[in-house]
Amino acid sequence: MDKKLEMVDLKGQYLKIKDEIDAAIAKVMEDSAFINGPAVREFRDSLSRYLGGIHVIPCANGTDALQIALMALGLKPGDEVIVPAFTYVSSAEVIALLGLTPVMVDVDPLTFNVSADNIREAITPSTRAIIPVHLFGQSCDMEPVMELAREHGLYVIEDNAQALGAEYAFSDGHTEKTGTIGTVGCTSFFPSKNLGCYGDGGAIFCKDDALAGKIAMIANHGQKTKYHHSVIGCNSRLDSIQAAILNVKLRHLDEYSDARNRAARYYTEKLHKIDPDGHCFRLPARLENSTHVYHQYTLRILGGKRDALKEYLAAAGIPSMIYYPLPLQEQEAFRGIARAAGTLSAAKECSETVLSLPMHTELSEQMQDIVTDAIRDFFTGQ
Ligand SMILES: *Cc1c(COP(=O)(O)O)cnc(C)c1O
Repeated sequence: MDKKLEMVDLKGQYLKIKDEIDAAIAKVMEDSAFINGPAVREFRDSLSRYLGGIHVIPCANGTDALQIALMALGLKPGDEVIVPAFTYVSSAEVIALLGLTPVMVDVDPLTFNVSADNIREAITPSTRAIIPVHLFGQSCDMEPVMELAREHGLYVIEDNAQALGAEYAFSDGHTEKTGTIGTVGCTSFFPSKNLGCYGDGGAIFCKDDALAGKIAMIANHGQKTKYHHSVIGCNSRLDSIQAAILNVKLRHLDEYSDARNRAARYYTEKLHKIDPDGHCFRLPARLENSTHVYHQYTLRILGGKRDALKEYLAAAGIPSMIYYPLPLQEQEAFRGIARAAGTLSAAKECSETVLSLPMHTELSEQMQDIVTDAIRDFFTGQ
């Protein structure tokens, strides 16, 4: 094999669309409208079309997207926001940053996502919003979450940083893309995300015209017209070069999701043969009513062998990653700030057992064979 096995292969992906990308960047250089140039509006509009016509407000990164969403909803210190205990820090960090109270709930150890049942137990009279995170590329079971939110008058802010392109099917048969189901959707264009730029970027989605206007205003220093500031905002922009890159890559997003699905199917087929009874590891569980865009292909390694397997793979030159090694309830930063609803034992168990394998759009079966052969050798003691 001539190529190094990597968790992600941004270079290989770039080389396949080099001409398109280079031309798009050259065009921005030619225009020299580096901030809020035509490329930003073009990307905003094409992403909106991709998502079925929802408002898209580009911003500087996925963390800002979540923060701006919370700001736009007018939440006040003391308000509680429900967030999974097993997620990337951003989802909870922004809650605390705004003086709101993160209320951590447990996840389903099979899908890694929160369910309406997890959330229901955490609701108090102070609860104002829920941040479901579509972790690793698969939707949370959103229909019951939305019903619960309606029942209690709660906002739903979808953290869609890992699942752009995934679709959720409602019981009446209609489907909606993740990020367009809740009150607001947030995403990140960090390079390794499914739709990644070559730097930082993010976006906020919402259906409501007035809320979209408010979000756009907050992302732009709280101003509607230049130098007239109606609310306290922030400076969060997607720059034109990144937008031009994203505009090209968006055209390939569905093809990228297909490539990830192909790779996931191949892993699953091979790994199932290695451990047909599920004694050694658990394969990624599928929610029946969501497509999966495999931001990560994540196993749960049983029998306390996760760290040993990771070391074994590393010794064979095979990268793997632990997303995430500490659940929120064990993060020092949240001590005394976040409230735990329940024992959060599944979140802890996930942190102790998860292992993500190399997953990207450029994986070949030959590369995957190397990964799965090494996993087989580890468990058969060869
Ligand atoms: C990447 C990510 C974010 C943050 O995005 P940035 O662009 O890095 O700020 C938020 N939530 C989740 C679940 C993520 O994976």
